[in-house]
Amino acid sequence: TAPISEALKAVKPSATIAVTSKARELKAAGHDVIGLGAGEPDFDTPDNIKAAAITAINAGHTKYTAVDGIPELKEAICAKFKRDNELDYTPAQVNVSPGGKPIIYNAFVATLNPGDEVVIPTPYWVSYPDMAILCGAKPVFAEAKASDNYKLKPEALEAAITPKTKWLVLNSPSNPSGAAYTKDELIALGEVLLRHPHVWILTDDMYEHLVYDGFKFYTIAQVCPELYDRTLTMNGVSKSYAMTGWRIGYAAGPESLIKSMRNVMTQTTSNPCSISQYASVEALNGPQDFIAERNAVFVERRDMMVALLNDCSGILKCPTPEGAFYVYPSCEAAMGKTSAGGKLIQSDQDFAGALLEEEMVAVVHGEAFGLSPAFRISYATSTEALQEAGKRIQRFCAGLK
Ligand code: PLP
Repeated sequence: TAPISEALKAVKPSATIAVTSKARELKAAGHDVIGLGAGEPDFDTPDNIKAAAITAINAGHTKYTAVDGIPELKEAICAKFKRDNELDYTPAQVNVSPGGKPIIYNAFVATLNPGDEVVIPTPYWVSYPDMAILCGAKPVFAEAKASDNYKLKPEALEAAITPKTKWLVLNSPSNPSGAAYTKDELIALGEVLLRHPHVWILTDDMYEHLVYDGFKFYTIAQVCPELYDRTLTMNGVSKSYAMTGWRIGYAAGPESLIKSMRNVMTQTTSNPCSISQYASVEALNGPQDFIAERNAVFVERRDMMVALLNDCSGILKCPTPEGAFYVYPSCEAAMGKTSAGGKLIQSDQDFAGALLEEEMVAVVHGEAFGLSPAFRISYATSTEALQEAGKRIQRFCAGLK
């Protein structure tokens, strides 16, 4: 067997990827599985974006590019931040990486030392703590309670900050809860951060465009300009433009940090895919109206899913989230009960395991996101599949004794 580093020994493989692979295996073995684990839109990449990629190939844009992004894309990113977020950034303040994930990892590698702390609100996107651990740092969790609609309260943030805190990670709309902060809620968190000038803020805005019911998205550097000099505003094309496979993420922040992140890339990944970068220029500069059309479908599914889940024999409790394509029902009332198939449910992992075995519905247990007992459903799948999944989950819950 191959050697494993001490750093990697402390890291869990991604639970969402594990559930998705398990569902795929069961499907391949002939089972009628409904996978609600995947974190990607079921829509295709828009045609104008695909065409831009084909044009780039034919034009010979198939070589190494500037390590942290082509100038055209950096310009498009600056224009996007100005247009959508009222934020002024220059191309020298922009980093383009092979996905949103490497943005976070490169920022952490570039800044964290052993013993540093990273404050992460729970429930969190699975990769934040493990990336911090890989860099030798310590994740410090701050609970965003279900009763607060999974949004971090200023007091909980204040309590989590220590002299060792290097970063706070914010993610709005959130994966896994879909919760998004209002302008006032962000300002309240900003007031805490102003009292702690040593804390940097990484705001993961990947789901910015996926908000519903007229919700207005804000990002922290926009509403707390005093934090601009210590905020990394991160985004990407994966979710908004249905481009998960193209692998382009981007961020803007203080030039010194951006320079360090580029240094990491020069010795590791080099540039993100040249063709994907040209496609992303079109994504950001091209027509945006398809986003609203898709959101109309997402909001219908969200409402249907929340209603189905809150009608599960009183077992599940699910707030209505502002955005993303996830819901995060609490399954606390199932604890201590036994499923129709005879499984004693003592954790959300037991719940998700029995639901998969007995009803062939794949969800991701909340423990993977640091807030239990709950689970995550991704509603980025067909309405028919969601309806059928809802029926099965209701039957499963009704069978709990
Ligand atoms: N941040 C959040 C909150 C996500 O949900 C994801 C993807 O699941 C990412 C970052 C990573 O995005 P990418 O696929 O561009 O690496």
